[in-house]
Amino acid sequence: MKIPFDKINSFGKEFEYKSNLEPILLNGKLKKSGYHRVSIGGNLKGSIVVNCARCGVEINCNVDEDLKFTISDQFIETTDNLDIIEFIDGMIDIDYILNSEINSLKSSYNYCPKCENLDDDFEMEF
Ligand SMILES: [Zn+2]
Repeated sequence: MKIPFDKINSFGKEFEYKSNLEPILLNGKLKKSGYHRVSIGGNLKGSIVVNCARCGVEINCNVDEDLKFTISDQFIETTDNLDIIEFIDGMIDIDYILNSEINSLKSSYNYCPKCENLDDDFEMEF
């Protein structure tokens, strides 16, 4: 789903979007927050399947995460704000936002509960 940047006003626009990759629903709101700026806030709900990085078993993870980003339709010169997404063509690509969010969730659920309990390799003694 793509939403034109210039269709968003300061009253905001609510949307609901279901991922075509995972059973995840994004409920969100787009709102103009400044010159060349739109804020997106929302909630991701559903589940994702990931493989345990240690034993490879499939893990079904429930997802209930809030997300919040700023979107700009021009290049951002400063690099101090990592929560800004650029859509230079003026189209806000909800798929892109949702998929990158799903990917970062997948990389944060790496171990099944069994392996997670074994995970004390990183403790160092001095
Ligand atoms: Zn495991």
